[in-house]
This record gives sequence, C-alpha cells and structure tokens, in this order.
Amino acid sequence: MRKPILAGNWKMFKTVSQALSYVEHLDGLLADIPNQSQADVVICAPATALYAVHNQAQGTPIQLGAQNVHQAEEGAYTGETSAIMLKDAGAKYVIIGHSERRQYFGETDESVNAKVQQALKHGLLPIVCVGEDLDQRNQGVTNTLVESQVRAAFNAVSADDVARSVVAYEPIWAIGTGMTATAQDANAVCTHIRSVLSDMYGQDKANLVRIQYGGSVKPDNIAELMAQSDIDGALVGGASLDPGTFASLVRNA
Ligand code: PGA
Repeated sequence: MRKPILAGNWKMFKTVSQALSYVEHLDGLLADIPNQSQADVVICAPATALYAVHNQAQGTPIQLGAQNVHQAEEGAYTGETSAIMLKDAGAKYVIIGHSERRQYFGETDESVNAKVQQALKHGLLPIVCVGEDLDQRNQGVTNTLVESQVRAAFNAVSADDVARSVVAYEPIWAIGTGMTATAQDANAVCTHIRSVLSDMYGQDKANLVRIQYGGSVKPDNIAELMAQSDIDGALVGGASLDPGTFASLVRNA
C-alpha cells in the first residue's frame, strides 16, 4: 500500500550541464522499465541545478528533491537556502539531517526538527535521515539512538504531516563504504522506526510513512532490501551518479 520511493542523492556532484544530460538519459532508460510508474523516482540535486533539472524533468517520471534546507523562513543567513526558495525552484522533496550534515555542518536533532517543520510548512516533503555510527552499532544502542532521532525530528509535527514524510534509515558505517547492513538487520531497524511512529501517532499513520534504507545500495542488493516488510525504498548516493546504474537499480527494485 506504500508507494516505493527510490531517491538518488547526488551530494556535491554535477554541474548544470551534467545534470541536464543525466536527466535526459535517465528519462530514456526509465521508459524501458515495465511498471516503473509504481515507484516514485526522485533525484536530489545540488541547489545550483534544481531549477534547471525541474524544467528538464517536466513531463518525465523524474521528481526533484533538494539536499538541505535552512530552518528560518528568510533573513540574513548568508549562503543558505530557504524552503520557499527550494519549492520555488521546483523541489518536491528535501533531504534533512543527512549524517554528513550532522557530522560536518553541526546539525543537531533540534535543527533537524526545525527544518522538518519549515519544509512541511511550505509543502516540501522531508526525507529525514537517521542512523547510527559503527561504535554505536557495536555498543548495541542502534535502536535507542534511532528512536531518539525519530522522536526529536518529528517533535510537534502533526500526524498528517508525519504520514506524508519519508524516513531514511542510513547506518553511517554503510554510507559510501561498500558495507551494507544485511537486509534483515536493516529491516529490523526500519520496523523499530515504524513502531516508534506508531507509538507517537498511531498505527494507521505509521503505516503510511515510507521508510527508506540507505548505505551502499546498488543494483545488485536493492531487490533483497525492497523485499523486506518495512523497507519502502532507498536513498542512494554513489549508485545514483550514473544514469545507467540508477536505472538498473530502479529496474531491479
Ligand atoms: P551511498 O550513500 O549510497 O554512496 O552509500 C548513501 C547516502 O549517503 O545517502
């Protein structure tokens, strides 16, 4: 009942011209995939390419996401991009609280929550990233940590808004490393996330939230991940950079 969502996170890659040729190429490849329309295919482009990609993607199945948003409405925040601006440039989704932003740019559970609220206020659908690092995994605190990240991210967010949101479970040790959580381990955490959402908002709402797995997702491991009960899609970094690879991943999902 939940529509799968396969999102590519380009991170800090691709100029406008590279982005445009990618979208053209991917669109052609998606046209050859039977049942492709049964999944949402999203490209999270760098801010500089959003508007161009939005125009290029008109009339294609490719949807657009941003990679970050500022929590303030507008103001003297040099270098930042607001939810209004992202929406205006054509974004439908926005990644919030990616581990790279938590690690390198000082994002906290509190700023993630403020960004989630700001995104939803302006009609952007947040893709909220949570996940443990290797030490935390080894200490056995994964579920506790992820639970606190989810509770904080959705603090004071309405049940209907949460139901429209996407959560991406991304174990930090699996991002860009080639190490993937086993499909069963990934699913166990995603099931825990859904039970936390159920505790916060009730089972009916929790059942509507799409939960992605992210971390070294590739065309050859996507099918097993997608077969799990609580994994509704993937947030894909490295394997989204080449349109042929990303199209294979969509096909195999
Ligand atoms: P990866 O990145 O697929 O390259 O591991 C995932 C992510 O950071 O979202």
